[in-house]
Amino acid sequence: MKKVFIQRGKEKSLQRFHPWVFSGAIARKDSHIAEGEMVEVCDAGGNFMAIGHYHTSSISVRVFSFEQVEPDCQFWKNKIERAIAYRKSIYLFDNNDTTLFRLVNGEGDGMPGLIADWYNGHLVLQFHSYGMYLMREMLTDIFKELLADRLKSIYNKSATTLSESNAFVPANELLYGALEDEILVKENSVPFYIDIPQGQKTGFFIDQRDNRKMVGEFCRDKKVLNLFCYTGGFSAYALQGGASLVHSVDISKRAIEQTNANIALLGDLSHKHEAYAANVFDFIEEMPTHFYDVIIVDPPAFAKHHKVKEQGIKGYRNINRKAIEKVKPGGMVFTFSCSQAISKEDFQTIIFSAAAMEHKNIRIVKHLQHALDHPVNIFHPEGSYLKGMALCVE
Ligand code: SAH
Repeated sequence: MKKVFIQRGKEKSLQRFHPWVFSGAIARKDSHIAEGEMVEVCDAGGNFMAIGHYHTSSISVRVFSFEQVEPDCQFWKNKIERAIAYRKSIYLFDNNDTTLFRLVNGEGDGMPGLIADWYNGHLVLQFHSYGMYLMREMLTDIFKELLADRLKSIYNKSATTLSESNAFVPANELLYGALEDEILVKENSVPFYIDIPQGQKTGFFIDQRDNRKMVGEFCRDKKVLNLFCYTGGFSAYALQGGASLVHSVDISKRAIEQTNANIALLGDLSHKHEAYAANVFDFIEEMPTHFYDVIIVDPPAFAKHHKVKEQGIKGYRNINRKAIEKVKPGGMVFTFSCSQAISKEDFQTIIFSAAAMEHKNIRIVKHLQHALDHPVNIFHPEGSYLKGMALCVE
């Protein structure tokens, strides 16, 4: 295996098991290391530190082992078996009420660069590193063996996630089996259609499962506004939870069509629901004040990286100011940020500013994060990207 040597004095983060080696920490490396090749990371004295995939990007090595092992098929199979065992232990595997979950969560499962989401027999692989992508055939074989009869298809959906790498960009493709036209899943018994090839991410925002359940429990007899609704996840739970009225807003027409299809699955609740294909920033200006009892604010990442953090902070502050201003006194705002660059503390400060600017008294009822199937590696705090708060607005 070719070697990459860390600069003297820059070993600290690896010694603390952080799985990323930044380009600035590398002193020298063997010549002709290919994109995505497995490399051994050594300290300046040549002592072994870790093994990972090499890329010509700011994160130069994504580490998958701090032990001097042979990263063969059995090594990866063991990792995937551990990921499955954990989902079994939290009752997500073979659970008839929840048939979609995250099976592999990148660094959180010791597999940087790999996301694997399960949609009722259909497994979607999303590669975030070229090194992982190069292993797709072996990974497909491992999943086929471990998931056996449950498995209907494996789909590689990495055309957008690998586009920033210098390497060849793959088209989305089936790696095994066949997709169905309409994949129907259940999440906490709430049904949803999933469009794997055309949908956002791998098809659904699985990370919000627990938060959707909790929000649903706050909605009895309430008027609810779901901003940035995507395919209506929070809206469906609100209706199931007994909301008297739900309005869903998303800028994507396709998402609004899917929202309507998903709400129709709930049968006779459709008349309590209206979906709008609109820009939330326009909608929220024009909507009446003190009309909604519950407002959900779950925007896309406004700060995709640190360089645009300030701009992101402004975006979150503006939208939350509006929600706080417009919600009915005594009502609830459920607000989220999925920006890795915005920490939990940053987010709370943003809400603090929004409340102060609106002269509103706000109580934090609960801090929210991603669901249990999105474990975070303690040595990789960047994995905690989803932050949320349940707020009671006076
Ligand atoms: N809450 C959703 C996930 C939201 S993802 C769920 O539980 O599934 C963010 C969504 O915001 C995307 O569907 C995207 O289409 C939408 N979006 C992005 N910018 C928007 C804007 N300015 N106005 C309305 N929707 C927007």
